[in-house]
Amino acid sequence: MKNDTLTMAIQKSGRLSEDSVKLLKQCGIRIQNGNNNLKAIANGFPMELIFLRDDDIPQYVEDGVADAGILGLNEVLEKNKDVEVIQPLGFSRCRLSVAIPRAMDYPGKEFLNGKRIATSYPVLLDKFLKENKLNAEIHPISGSVEVTPGLGLADAIFEIVSSGGTLLSNGLKETETVLKSEAVLIAGKNLSEPVNKLLQQLLFRIRSVQKAANNKYILLNAPEEQLDNIISLIPGIKSPTIMPLAEKGWYSLHSVISEDDFWGVIDKLKEAGAQGILVAPIEKMVT
Ligand code: ATP
Ligand code: ZN
Repeated sequence: MKNDTLTMAIQKSGRLSEDSVKLLKQCGIRIQNGNNNLKAIANGFPMELIFLRDDDIPQYVEDGVADAGILGLNEVLEKNKDVEVIQPLGFSRCRLSVAIPRAMDYPGKEFLNGKRIATSYPVLLDKFLKENKLNAEIHPISGSVEVTPGLGLADAIFEIVSSGGTLLSNGLKETETVLKSEAVLIAGKNLSEPVNKLLQQLLFRIRSVQKAANNKYILLNAPEEQLDNIISLIPGIKSPTIMPLAEKGWYSLHSVISEDDFWGVIDKLKEAGAQGILVAPIEKMVT
């Protein structure tokens, strides 16, 4: 492990790979020689990348072979290694759920007593069963867990669900959502001071990208008598920029608005007489 480089483990190929690389790119970090090799050097940040199966990332980070890694929270909790979850990353959202054949009645969790449950998450399933004082048989399986009830190999499954399409096509229904997951940044607990500093720099970039994604740049024209009202609707980071238009009594206002407030605020701006409203994405936001 080098002190002047942050060694980052990401998934070699799978559902996390593309978005992990995209996030790094948005942070100004480009990967030089693709992910066909085990390792690559990054451009734009002192980073070395290791490409692994997501299952292996927690162990590599615990052992200090990698300083940090990107993978699903579901996998982090299943592997239960001594690593720290540093930051949720907002992609690869999914949930870990119990599903049973659609035709079965589901009176509640007690349905699972005495049943065989197929899963690729035996550790998390065991925890769920214990917490709910349920007695069921855990069948650990890797891959295609959804087909097991149809084949008579299990009575229920405990698996990742995103849209629910796979459940539907296998005649299953979701009955309990046990964990909500998304990709997270994890890091080792014993990073050297210089490496921890790099991690903090990376984190700062990630948060700037996330803030930008949650905000929009808004420009509009406002009549003079409504300026105060409109400023109170889009106060921005510090306060909006106001510039007079060539037409007397009118001003151009520039500000930032949160994605969550967007539609509610737009309606109020229109009511206040704002015209020519333009909304543009923000690439990075440093506050
Ligand atoms: P690997 O070969 O690296 O072990 P894998 O088969 O375990 O890959 P993927 O299917 O690529 O894993 O899924 C990786 C992670 O992506 C999952 O652990 C989960 O966090 C998330 N994920 C899984 N399914 C979905 C989905 N349908 N939508 C969004 N995210 C998902
Ligand atoms: Zn995996």
